[in-house]
Amino acid sequence: MEAAALTQCAPGCWAFTQPPGGWFLNNAGLIPGRRRALVVDSLATAALERDFLVRTQPIIRLETGLIVVNTHSHADHVYGNALLPPSAIVVAHPVAAAEITRIGLALAFDTPQVEWGDIAIRTPDVMVADQIEVDLGDTTVSVLHLGPGHTRGDLVVWHEATRTLYSGDLVMSQVTPFFLSGSPLAARATLERLRSLRPVTIVPGHGVVGGPGLLEANITYLDELLRTAAELACSSLAPHQIRSHPGIVVPSGWVDPERHFVNLYAALCDLSPEIYGAQVDHRVAMELLGPMRLDPRLTVKSDL
Ligand SMILES: [Zn+2]
Repeated sequence: MEAAALTQCAPGCWAFTQPPGGWFLNNAGLIPGRRRALVVDSLATAALERDFLVRTQPIIRLETGLIVVNTHSHADHVYGNALLPPSAIVVAHPVAAAEITRIGLALAFDTPQVEWGDIAIRTPDVMVADQIEVDLGDTTVSVLHLGPGHTRGDLVVWHEATRTLYSGDLVMSQVTPFFLSGSPLAARATLERLRSLRPVTIVPGHGVVGGPGLLEANITYLDELLRTAAELACSSLAPHQIRSHPGIVVPSGWVDPERHFVNLYAALCDLSPEIYGAQVDHRVAMELLGPMRLDPRLTVKSDL
C-alpha cells in the first residue's frame, strides 16, 4: 500500500495524492497565497482529512483565510468539509451544492465497513455556476465550470501562472473514470474545453499527478467508450447484459475496471435515451458494478 503524499507539483501548487486512487481515495490540492489559501476538495474520512490538515499546516500561514473548492458532490470529495476551520469558505457548483444537501451521509450509511469517523455534512457557502477569479494575495486562481461530465455540477481549479489544472474526477490517472451520476457524452465535450486550456500539470481527482497525457488518456477512453456504446445501441443490448457481453473489453491496468460496465450503460443512455432512459437506473448500475474493493486504509480503526 502506497502512503499518501504531499508534493509541490508546480511552483506554489501542491497535490495531496492517495495512490493508487481507487474507491474513496481521492486527491486534494493546495495553493497557498499571502492573504488566502485555496484548497481543492476535502477527503473521505475524518482520519484522512485530519492527516491532510496536519500535513498542510506548515504551508498555510495561520493568519490566511481558507477557501475550499468542492469539485463535485461525491462523498470522498466533500465529507471532510466538516473538519475544516469554521472560518473556511466552501465553494461548489449550485447543482453539486443541492446534491450534497439531498444525498447527505447516505453513502456512509450504505458502507458501514468504512471507518468514516466524525464526518458531517457541511453545505457550501458560495456557488459558482460559471466562473470566479480568486485573489490569493500574490497569485490568482480561476474556479471554472466548463460543462458537466463526471457529474452534472463539476468545477475545476485553474492556476494560469503555472498552467496547473486541478481537474476533480473529470480526469483520472490510471484509474477508471466513473459516470454513474454524469454523462460520457457531456464529459467528452468538457474534456475538449480542458484541453484548450493547454495545462502543463494536471492533478487528477484520483491517481498520480501527470501532464497533458492524462487528459489525452481520458479522451481516448471516452472515444472508445462512446464508439462501443454506439455499436451496442444498434443491437438494443439490455443494460443487465452488459457485463456478460463478449464484445466488451475492460481497460487493462486501470484501477476499479468494473466501473467500465456502468460507464457503458451511461453512454447508452446518452446515445439512445428513448431505449435506455435519460439516466442510468441506480439499482441496475450497482448490480453491474458488483462489490466495491475497499483499500484497507479506509476500514482500519484510527487512533486519530
Ligand atoms: Zn467523483
